[in-house]
Amino acid sequence: MGGRISESTIREVRDRADIVEVVSETVPLSRAGASFRGLCPFHREKTPSFFVHPARQAFKCFGCGEGGSVFHFLMKARNLSFADSIEELAERYGVAVRYEGGGVPSRPKDDLYAMLRLAADTYRELLGSPAGKPGREFLRRRGVTPEAEREFGLGWCGTGGELVSALKRKGIDLARGEAAGLLLPSGPGYRDRFRGRVLFPISDARGRICGFGGRAADDAVPKYLNSPESELYRKSSLLYGLFQALPAIRSEGRVLVVEGYMDLIGLWQKGVRGVVATCGTSLTESHARTLKRLSENVVLFYDGDVAGKKAAVRSGGPLYAAGVSPKALFPPKGMDPDDWAKAASPEELARRIAGAVPLMESIERGASRKYDLATISGKLSYVQLMAKYLRWVTDPAERELYAQRVAQTSGLPVETIHRQVGPSGTESLPGGGAPPRINDPRPEESNLLRLLAVDPSLAVAARRDGVGDLLSGEDAREALAILASIAERATGEAEFPLGEDLPDGVRKLLSAELVLADITPDEARRRYPGAVLSLRIRRARLETEELQGKVKGATGEEASLLFDRVVAAKRELERLESERRSR
Ligand SMILES: [Zn+2]
Repeated sequence: MGGRISESTIREVRDRADIVEVVSETVPLSRAGASFRGLCPFHREKTPSFFVHPARQAFKCFGCGEGGSVFHFLMKARNLSFADSIEELAERYGVAVRYEGGGVPSRPKDDLYAMLRLAADTYRELLGSPAGKPGREFLRRRGVTPEAEREFGLGWCGTGGELVSALKRKGIDLARGEAAGLLLPSGPGYRDRFRGRVLFPISDARGRICGFGGRAADDAVPKYLNSPESELYRKSSLLYGLFQALPAIRSEGRVLVVEGYMDLIGLWQKGVRGVVATCGTSLTESHARTLKRLSENVVLFYDGDVAGKKAAVRSGGPLYAAGVSPKALFPPKGMDPDDWAKAASPEELARRIAGAVPLMESIERGASRKYDLATISGKLSYVQLMAKYLRWVTDPAERELYAQRVAQTSGLPVETIHRQVGPSGTESLPGGGAPPRINDPRPEESNLLRLLAVDPSLAVAARRDGVGDLLSGEDAREALAILASIAERATGEAEFPLGEDLPDGVRKLLSAELVLADITPDEARRRYPGAVLSLRIRRARLETEELQGKVKGATGEEASLLFDRVVAAKRELERLESERRSR
């Protein structure tokens, strides 16, 4: 390995890595306001005090004090070095690692990717060979063109142990084929996992194959068989077709989500290209965050039956939680998107997709039809159901508009609807609530540090304003100095305060402030003068009290000198307090 990993690599890995996804593999997390929380893996506890803040890319345990960035989490949870934690995440999120001293990066998972690629090539060749006839016939029956077959690298695995032979020919240890989810033990040897199936290679956003979806070409059960969960194949975060869809998603500023491989291919054949599919699972929070990064214009395109509509509604939770207000589109009853794509003209499809309605609107329509709104109990059920869904909506304007709609439909005042929905978004869900702040002895200092953590460039101003002298904690003073030097080194991009070599005390302090901070850098800058003023007031109050104590024990000239100082200190305190009142 070469020298130190370059700053730009660290930055890129941190930006791409999803701290919630990484932590979730060790700690089951549930949403709590803007953060997620769970039971701390670093100390024993029965009620969760461990918080992860996705936007701030930080975690913090308010029980044992542990905290830091996604790298610190991996270092601590898996006993890795800082460099190892970066390399692991770089590998996973597809970032090329560069070293400051040059050097050759190592790629521990390359072998696995290479084997999956070899399997995909073997399956694809088989599909084109005489042995692939059942697969080709299945695809033609389903209307898949040879062009789509090539674009998505579709393949076939027969029942004759074809992949087993191919791996043997390459001298690959078959046990590794089993570990890669391609083979199953059978008697003394191995057999193909996917025999008798048409194969859909599932790749990541960089086009590296991570696993396969296998569709039975006959009536075999299960109809779909996917790769087992592995280091590379994580169905809760992979989206089928993403690699092929990326250019269209970027150029159209929109991403369609379907539930099946065949739906995606059917749409592709009609020229609808910005489409991804979940791989045999309902849409997860991790999918939702990936989609949000791709585009905020997410259209769910699910089956036109009850199950499809229910699945779309279920997807709403994770999407709203990720900050996406999705739209929804359903084919006519009894059809799936693939059927519809075949039946409709490309123009009609494009028009329908462009006309997709907001999911919440479709939920509201469904709810208003579900109940008899001429009766009181029907109205009540309708309002209660809608209140449940409106809790997802955190955007105040959007929530207000839907509340008005529900008020209109039910004939109730809009205030009643708001009361039914509850205070604000996800906070009212079970398991919600903001992280605690237990016995903070110096709230003014914490408040200021929080602003500096959100926007480290404020630390430069704070140092200039002499804020260091107003801080009583040693960690707090050190944090200020470190943040100021980070800000001075910054190259114009957003600065991140939780670097590698932070002293433990500072790291724990800053991670707490980051997880607690629910403000934007703009808001932090706006609040900065007020926070400094509060610190000055606290200092002036302490000084006044101290002098008053001294006056009591003093006599003669000393007493009169001290008394003058008390008067001056009080005057200063009053001046600062009136300054705060006038703000
Ligand atoms: Zn803990």
